[in-house]
Amino acid sequence: MSEKRSSEEATSAREGEPRGRERRGPGGWDEVLATEAHLVAPGAEWRSELYRVAITQFERAAGILRLDPDLRERLIEPRRSLVVNFPMRRDNGEVQEFTGYRVQHTLALGPAKGGIRFAPGVSLGECAALALWMTFKCALVELPFGGAKGGVRCDPNRLSSGEMERLIRRYAAEISPIIGPDRDIPAPDMATGEQEMAWFMDTYSQQQGQAVPEIVTGKPPVLGGTEGRRAATGLGVVFALEAAMEHLGWELEGRRVVLQGFGKVGAVIADELVRRGARVVGVADVAGGVVNEDGLDLQALTAWVGEHGFIRGFPGGERVGRREVLLVPCDLLIPAALEQQITEDNAEDLDCKLLVEAANGPTTPEGDEILARRGIPVVPDVLANAGGVTVSYYEWVQGMQREKWSSAAIAERLEQRMRSSMGRVIGSADRLGTDWRTAAQVLAIERVAEASRLRAIYP
Ligand code: NAD
Repeated sequence: MSEKRSSEEATSAREGEPRGRERRGPGGWDEVLATEAHLVAPGAEWRSELYRVAITQFERAAGILRLDPDLRERLIEPRRSLVVNFPMRRDNGEVQEFTGYRVQHTLALGPAKGGIRFAPGVSLGECAALALWMTFKCALVELPFGGAKGGVRCDPNRLSSGEMERLIRRYAAEISPIIGPDRDIPAPDMATGEQEMAWFMDTYSQQQGQAVPEIVTGKPPVLGGTEGRRAATGLGVVFALEAAMEHLGWELEGRRVVLQGFGKVGAVIADELVRRGARVVGVADVAGGVVNEDGLDLQALTAWVGEHGFIRGFPGGERVGRREVLLVPCDLLIPAALEQQITEDNAEDLDCKLLVEAANGPTTPEGDEILARRGIPVVPDVLANAGGVTVSYYEWVQGMQREKWSSAAIAERLEQRMRSSMGRVIGSADRLGTDWRTAAQVLAIERVAEASRLRAIYP
């Protein structure tokens, strides 16, 4: 990241003089202040492995765009970050402290938009990286939103339903000063779904004294949720994948598919691909997975997971580890669980023809380089999983206008937007001679940079 501060910050009222000199103090401080050695490095607050990955990708695209260094720094760092600590009473009467976050990356294009995750690894740095990707995603599919992300650090598998409710309600109350239907609209992410969004919406509405369904998306339909939101992310992945395969001249029929993650996103992708004639030969969740070269019986697997909670123990195939599943030979590999799964440690050993990133940030820059060298194309996360936020946008529009669209209209709009976005990415990659990820980010950054340039600097 550039060490250069924005021109506004780096110069004093007297042209060209470092800002530190304005605050000339007695003795040694003068020298320290003049060199700016006392300043914490830009981005230090959000530093994390995932943020490094996001920044590395950003820098590559910004380099191609020859983005002005001042603008570069303005676009990288999140506009607003909130950290909250709060207590929650466990079912056994004990009180436990939790930490939650909400990061709003860009406010230049409209309200911020992004999911809420409950996971053990949630941190400020992780939320900052995910918020940056949300900015790219919204800009790439041309939604009038900036990116945001938030969550609570916890192990959702160890929380009862009552504890989940108390946790999300308190979290909603804690972040309410910075959210709103015109400011920042949360949505589901890992371990949160319709019920959590209903509790969130109720908490916010209680505070406002009236129902405010537009405060979240991904709500149950009866509370203003939209048709098609449940399947939107997975279906969007499939539309992007189909467009990519058409470009490559490949048929979907008979293709072998491997998925890591069988949750809200992964399960829909598996189902949609099997309907289109593909064969799911491997799938894993957090507790492990199963492989069957002849194709897994998806209906039986779904019923098993419904009953037992996890894939583990499913009798229709051989056991496989949750990470090992990525190495199962296939045509389409679809990480749909979590970040940083394809790295320099395993990218060389993947046995797939196309990688489609349903999860956010599943491939590290080092993994990316190896895949590029091996000639394995990647449909990047910012494009592949943008169907979720796209239909969230449709839900928000319907909420603001008190309208209801049909599921057919939503699916049609989603398909059209995903296909045209994939088409623009392919065109841009051909023009620039880059991979699809870099091309997608160039398109996204160009749009955000233009908006930021036009709005200029306040005051
Ligand atoms: P989910 O909680 O419904 O499902 C997550 C799945 O991943 C589960 O099957 C879980 O067991 C599995 N998993 C968790 N840790 C794992 C590990 N270490 N190894 C293997 N499997 C593991 O979450 P989801 O909504 O399906 O989200 C999955 C991914 O898609 C996340 O990266 C999320 O950010 C991204 N995403 C989700 C949406 C959405 O609308 N839900 C939208 C865009 C992106």
